[in-house]
Amino acid sequence: DQWAEGYYAVDRGGDLVVRTSGDGCGPSHRIVDVVDACVESGATFPLLLNFPDIARDRIRTQHACFEEAINRYKYSGSYSCAFPIKANHSEEVIRTVLSVDSDDSLRCSLEVGSKPELLIALAQACASGEPKRVQIICNGFKDRSYIELALLAQKSLGLKVILCVDRYEEVGLTMDCCKELGISPSLGVRAKLNTRHDGHWGSSSGYVSKFGLCVRELLQLVRTLEKESMLGCLQMLHFHLGSQIDEISTVKSAMREACSLYGELRKLGAKLDTMDVGGGLAVTYDGEEGSWSPKYTMQNYANDVVAAVNDMCVQRGIPAPLIVTESGRFLASHQSLLVFDAGYKTDAVESAKGAVEDGSPMSYFFQTFEEVYRDLTTSGSDVEEAYNDALQFRKEAESAFSLGIMTLEEMAYAEELFGDIMRFVALRGEGSQLDAAKLSQALPYFANLSIFRSAIDSWAIGQSFPVMPVSKLHHKPNDFAKVYDLTCDSDGEIKHFVTSRGALSPVLPVHCDGKGSATLALFLLGAYQQSMGNYHNLFGETCSANVTFAGDGEDGVTISRLQSAETSAEILQRARYAPGEMREGVASAAKTACGVGGKPSRLLSLVDELLTQSGYLNSTT
Ligand code: PLP
Repeated sequence: DQWAEGYYAVDRGGDLVVRTSGDGCGPSHRIVDVVDACVESGATFPLLLNFPDIARDRIRTQHACFEEAINRYKYSGSYSCAFPIKANHSEEVIRTVLSVDSDDSLRCSLEVGSKPELLIALAQACASGEPKRVQIICNGFKDRSYIELALLAQKSLGLKVILCVDRYEEVGLTMDCCKELGISPSLGVRAKLNTRHDGHWGSSSGYVSKFGLCVRELLQLVRTLEKESMLGCLQMLHFHLGSQIDEISTVKSAMREACSLYGELRKLGAKLDTMDVGGGLAVTYDGEEGSWSPKYTMQNYANDVVAAVNDMCVQRGIPAPLIVTESGRFLASHQSLLVFDAGYKTDAVESAKGAVEDGSPMSYFFQTFEEVYRDLTTSGSDVEEAYNDALQFRKEAESAFSLGIMTLEEMAYAEELFGDIMRFVALRGEGSQLDAAKLSQALPYFANLSIFRSAIDSWAIGQSFPVMPVSKLHHKPNDFAKVYDLTCDSDGEIKHFVTSRGALSPVLPVHCDGKGSATLALFLLGAYQQSMGNYHNLFGETCSANVTFAGDGEDGVTISRLQSAETSAEILQRARYAPGEMREGVASAAKTACGVGGKPSRLLSLVDELLTQSGYLNSTT
């Protein structure tokens, strides 16, 4: 409940369910059924499930909150959201964003920050069938061809393209291109605000931030445009404070500062009619108390943005601008989750009880160690005391073994006793002692995924993504897992798990069924994880499916697009190898090595087979 925003829940049978409406009222669908339907259609694990209806619902929620704020403050302007393509490049997501526009007559535009992103926006605007209803906001570093493409898209296709000046150096180039092509542009300008946000992405704000014009540069821009009789082209003021803004006070301060700039620029003759407040709307990843949690709601955010713009318009007597947001994380995160298998398999290890031989110098040591366990489990002695005793006994056992006083068998028994006590403490203890006990007893689960490919921020910036099993959630967990990925990298592990206590834990509670395997899901992956994930150890894109639901029942699962995982041949090509040549090289060496009559055919057929498969382990459920 702390992070699912109504889109994910647990049903009475203990199964994870997905709902495409965040109000929690719509029909729910078991993830295991969705996975089965995908596997029947040929999907493999790890499987990225995308629910475009969740992205659609987020856009609607954002619009609804702004509508409410507009009504509340009797704001005479309107609102539009622009989706930043960098948050999720996938065609399905962009199409969903644009389809919300045409289905529901809501206006949703696209924000781009590079030439390839502009190409995507253009193509998708054309594919939408109504390019004239699509607005594209061009941010980021620009060269001549970027600017020309934006201007020509406006002139030739009738798209509304706003060229946003992100750095002062772009002004001259933009004006030259406009003159050469004889096009009157729609210009925007990104302001460098002094308001800073303290989170991880805070460096996008403040005076020394990478993008934006400071006040002196803004003034100079106005003068230059005026001299060229182009001041009327300056339509939009934009700022972006950085992602994941956790404090609403930061939004309030930024809005006050941006509104003053807007008002002053209008006073100088700019015909501004759009206020683009950028992205940054935060998502809760790790529970209410977590460090990645916004301390405000979407409605608070919309109210503060609209109220600030409204106050400015009333005070200065200027027309109300169109308010644009560029939320990426907020719109895209919840729509994707990764389903993967994770397990711990080992043959049962025999008990070392009976290892202590009569007359052993360690007899007394083991008698007292056993007593700690017996008192804990039978007479309910103090858990903390037993925990501390066990730590001490383990330390002493290690010393005795190193000094040659303890045999290998006795050391195995000491390990066993320690494990038994810690397991008991882990299921009943509290606080840090509990976490330490869990950690000492956690089973190493190996997960069929690459953190670097599928949840890069978990490695890169220590972000916690919620993880949980997809079924048996009505049983009390009986074990704890450390979850490692497939990469040969010790950083390839999920290091923090979100708990229902709101705190983070180093281990994941699991139901160990004797077989030691579980189907787990990693959530909130829809923003930035696919676009920024890398090919470490050459694990490529996972299999993915777009899932919609036809009706209320369990049978209504529609898989609108199933994409296989990237094959090794495709990944090797990315790494600039020629798989065909590699294969031929192996074939010729094998022929030489086997000599006349030798048969390297199995080797070669295996090479061929592996080139056409992904690097993930072959498993489904
Ligand atoms: N707009 C701009 C200019 C950005 O650089 C970004 C990303 O940082 C965004 C919008 C989207 O931010 P978020 O996904 O945090 O809403």
